[in-house]
Amino acid sequence: ALILGIESSCDETAAAVIDGNGATLATRIVAQRIASQDEAHRPYGGVVPEIAARAHVEVLGPMVEAVLADAGLALGDVDAIAATAGPGLIGGVMVGLVTAKALAMAADKPLVAVNHLEGHALSPRLADPSLCYPYLLLLVSGGHCQILEVAGVGQYRRLATTIDDALGEAFDKTAKILGLGYPGGPAVERLAREGNPKAVPLPRPLVGSGEPHFSFAGLKSAVMRAKDAGVHADADIAASFQQAALDCVVDRTRIALSVAAPGMTALVVAGGVAANAALRGALVALAADHGLPLVAPPPKLCTDNAAMIGWAGVERFALGYTDPLDVAARPRWPLDENAAPVRGAGV
Ligand code: ATP
Ligand code: MG
Ligand code: FE
Repeated sequence: ALILGIESSCDETAAAVIDGNGATLATRIVAQRIASQDEAHRPYGGVVPEIAARAHVEVLGPMVEAVLADAGLALGDVDAIAATAGPGLIGGVMVGLVTAKALAMAADKPLVAVNHLEGHALSPRLADPSLCYPYLLLLVSGGHCQILEVAGVGQYRRLATTIDDALGEAFDKTAKILGLGYPGGPAVERLAREGNPKAVPLPRPLVGSGEPHFSFAGLKSAVMRAKDAGVHADADIAASFQQAALDCVVDRTRIALSVAAPGMTALVVAGGVAANAALRGALVALAADHGLPLVAPPPKLCTDNAAMIGWAGVERFALGYTDPLDVAARPRWPLDENAAPVRGAGV
């Protein structure tokens, strides 16, 4: 099927046309466009919801026209329209979802309401057609840090989550402490390459615990104290932070691998932080210890994009999961609640 995908849950406006019959990543993504709002939010050191929603409104309509033109298609040529319906900043989600509803109504096409986290969770299958269910997913993004068994579309069992901050949030806060600006993850990774990961003694919260949960708040506080102490170079703090965070992730994921149901075909990492090369390297070794491949989407498909939303649309549409035009936008929407199509009061 040909699916138009729309993403607007945070600070990227994105649209893509996905061909579910494509055999490779290159042929599956027929066209995609993405507009980041980084510049608009940079003065505030984080995403400002009102600014984000307004920017989505300005950019999305023309972007949908442009991506269809890139694909050489008219709206009537697509089989369905998929849009993020949550979780995320409600103003932005509503812009994308209402746009998708209007397009669906105008072209008389089915609507697929996609959970943004399902977009991340299935994105490795967009990139690697050989990846089969079930797989163990480490989902590490700006708002989430979870480990899930992915048994199929809408079939998620959560083994672990964070008791405080998400991993991407820890990177972003560290960036702020070090004055690296917004968005912080890529800047911390860059600076960490110039530092000594053993220079600053930092805690590894929950490492050794028998349940695979995460905690990063104490690590962030320790980074703040290290910066305030003024004895270490920023690059050493960045490198030591990244090492501590990755040690936590590897330890927690090792526990999850030991408690996961048998038969996992791969260790998979997705979400914005999966773009981090050091994280990917550490997980390759861990997966190999367990006789599993590590599957990670290309870095550009790790951070928010519409290709992953279009792909989740492909998988849901293939199973007959479409949604009524009064489906509601949801600011919160846990992935493991996602077994059934969502219904609700109108937007
Ligand atoms: P969610 O998906 O949980 O709703 P989000 O959509 O805002 O949150 P993503 O776009 O999936 O988050 O990921 C963004 C996060 O990834 C940010 O916290 C960012 O700092 C982090 N990130 C991006 N690239 C890197 C990198 N190379 N190293 C570390 N962190 C990174
Ligand atoms: Mg972003
Ligand atoms: Fe995301």
